[in-house]
Parts: sequence; structure tokens; C-alpha cells
Amino acid sequence: MADEELRMFADSVGRFLERNAPPERVAKWRAEGMVEREFWREAGQAGLLGVSVPTEFGGGGGDFRHDVVVAEAVIRKGVEGFAAGLHNVIITPYIQAHGTEGQKRKWLPSLSNGERVAAIAMSEPGAGSDLQSVRTTAVRDGNGYRINGAKTFISNGQLADLIVVVAKTDPKEGARGVSLFVVEPGEVEGFRRGRKLDKVGLDAQDTSELFFDDVRVPAENLLGDREGQGFYQLMHELPRERLIIALGSAVAMEKALEETIAYVRERKAFGQPVIEFQNSQFVLADCKAKAVVARVFVNDCIEKALKGELDATTASIAKLWVTEAHGELVDACLQLHGGYGYINDYPIARMWRDARVQRIYGGSSEIMKLLIARSL
Ligand SMILES: Cc1cc2nc3c(=O)[nH]c(=O)nc-3n(C[C@H](O)[C@H](O)[C@H](O)COP(=O)(O)OP(=O)(O)OC[C@H]3O[C@@H](n4cnc5c(N)ncnc54)[C@H](O)[C@@H]3O)c2cc1C
Repeated sequence: MADEELRMFADSVGRFLERNAPPERVAKWRAEGMVEREFWREAGQAGLLGVSVPTEFGGGGGDFRHDVVVAEAVIRKGVEGFAAGLHNVIITPYIQAHGTEGQKRKWLPSLSNGERVAAIAMSEPGAGSDLQSVRTTAVRDGNGYRINGAKTFISNGQLADLIVVVAKTDPKEGARGVSLFVVEPGEVEGFRRGRKLDKVGLDAQDTSELFFDDVRVPAENLLGDREGQGFYQLMHELPRERLIIALGSAVAMEKALEETIAYVRERKAFGQPVIEFQNSQFVLADCKAKAVVARVFVNDCIEKALKGELDATTASIAKLWVTEAHGELVDACLQLHGGYGYINDYPIARMWRDARVQRIYGGSSEIMKLLIARSL
């Protein structure tokens, strides 16, 4: 697809978000702690979901560049809580890349038209960084499996109607005992959504607990064609997940910088705009350097991902460096706002709160360092 067509796609995504997610509507989601389901349907109808799913499976037929356009626009336009990056880039590819033909036919169309909202349930109360130690089990039972366990911190947890669940099919084995299952909450018994967690930030995201109490799924819901592939499937998809988190941070850095420059131009202290102090200029220069370096590195990773050349180490470097730089940048930008920076009416306050988790989810900074160190 030519650049011109990509630009037109970006324009139409931007217009859709401006029209359908104005600040008043997003404020409502923030107050309710979740995005309206109806908005997911609207986004699906407008072509924002499943953008890189082949048309034969009901998707947009694009590639990773289209996913990047949507993920970037959602952050730039401040559509908080709408986890399009998670749905399009993190979860749908599990089915696209690892599902059988039947699984793709069954799930990809409804993930692309907004009928289904996706979630991925890896983390548990006792296992986050160390995924091999998950305790959720899936035990073979006739022509199906019985899933038992508890998950926590699951994004889209209240809305999701397709959940990719990490479970042990062989608890005696480590990585080789892990499999992924697709659970459709509407189709099973024993599934329960727990609390929508009260978080420091991401107010419009329904990050939740999920419980699986003898949930029986048909054997066809084992992702792929055999047990024990889960860890391999996760390792295959995690670099892109980390890149999309790094991209989110890069865009958020640019936004925070723009917001802060506008603020310090207006705000006066000691008879002059705050931007006139040399300290403000030095702080902003440092922020700009970080934002530019982040963007260039992320763009390079996107190029690599498009060519199928993004390796786990490079994706970990992107996530580690860009999310850490994001944290430093929003903190400096908040400081330049003075007391107003701490007031939620000012966008920088939310940007600061929302930035914190970027260093934790999708693999913490410490785990990124472990992965990078393996390449030394
Ligand atoms: C808002 C939000 C949304 C999330 N969304 C999802 C989701 O959709 N799906 C999902 O499955 N999970 C999700 N998570 C969970 C997230 O991925 C985990 O919180 C994260 O991986 C860390 O796991 P943990 O919380 O168990 O921390 P722990 O693993 O208990 O880690 C605690 C601390 O120890 C450090 N640490 C751990 N191991 C090592 C080590 N070997 N060396 C050095 N330091 C180490 C960690 O870096 C961390 O600082 C979400 C979390 C949040 C907060």
C-alpha cells in the first residue's frame, strides 16, 4: 500500500476518533472506569479493529503500519481506556499467527468488526514476571478441557468476550507445560469477573480480576493444534507487544512536551513567562532530546517488525529505554506546571499517572534488563 493510502487511512482514523470520542465522552468513561461497549462496535464498523487481519477473515487487510496508525492516533487524540493496541497488536495476532484455520474463521471476523472485545490473561495473583509459574490449570476432560485458576490485572477485563488464557496443561513441566486457550465468557459456565481494580492511573481502563472455576471449553479452544505450545506462542508475540508499549510511550512523550511548552509560554512568574527561565529551557531541551531519540528508535523497530526482523533483545531495549525516558519526561513536565501539574484538570497530571505503568506491564524494566543481558 502506498504512503498516500496510509495517510488517508490515518486521516480517517483521526476523524473517527475526533467525532466519536470527544473529551466529554472520554470523561464519562473515566468516571465509569471503562469504555462503552458501543464505542468498540463503532470503532469496528469504522475499520479501526483487526486492521492487519486479512480480508478473507473479515479484517482490514493492512499490515503492521496500519496497526501503528491506530495505536498512535488513540494516544494522540486522548482516547483513554480504548485499548486498541492491545486488541489489534497484542491479542488478535495470537489467533492470526497460531490459530488453526477453523479458529481463524471463527474468531477473527468478530474481533475485526467490534462484536468481540479481546483480553489476554497471563498474570495471576502469585505470578506476573515469572510466567512459567502460573497455577491456572487446564485438564483434559473428554473432548474438552476444564480450566481452574485466578487471573489478575487483566486489561479489558469487564468488557472482554474473548479471552486468551495462559494455563498449564502439564503442571510437572515448566515452559513446555504451558498452553493457551480461548475462553468465550458468554459460552461457558464457571467464569466470573472479579473487581475492577482501583488504580493509580488509566482511569478509563477496566483492568480486572478474572476467576475460572471448572470452566469447560471444547478441545477446539486450545490455541493451535497441540498442547505445550503456549510459551513458544508467547515468546513469538511478546516482542511486538513490547514495541507497541514503547510506541505508546514515544507518542505520549511528544504530547506531554507539546502540552508543557504551551503551558510555560502562558504561565508567568517573576514578571516573565516560565519558558524564559534558562532552567525551563534546559529541562525542555532535555525532554525534547529524549522524545526525539525515543521516536527514532521506535521507528527503526517498526521498520524491523515490518520486515519480520524485530528480535526480542531489540524490542526489550525499546521498551526499557523509552518507557523509562517517558517516566522521566512526564515528571519533569509536571514540575514545570507547578501546583497545577498536580491537579487532574490539567492533562499533564493524568499523563504523569498513566505513564507509571508503562515500566511495569508487558514485562517490567527489570525483566527487560534480564532479557537484554542474555544477549551480552
Ligand atoms: C494497569 C495494568 C494492566 C495490566 N494488563 C495486563 C493484561 O492485560 N494481561 C496480563 O496478563 N497482565 C497484565 N498486567 C500485569 C503485568 O504484566 C504485571 O503486573 C507485570 O508483568 C509484573 O508482574 P507482577 O505484578 O506479578 O510483579 P512481580 O513479578 O511480583 O515483580 C515485583 C518486582 O520484582 C521485580 N522482579 C521480578 N522478577 C525479577 C527478576 N528475576 N530480577 C529482578 N527483578 C525482578 C519486578 O520487576 C518488580 O519490580 C497489567 C498490570 C497493570 C498494572
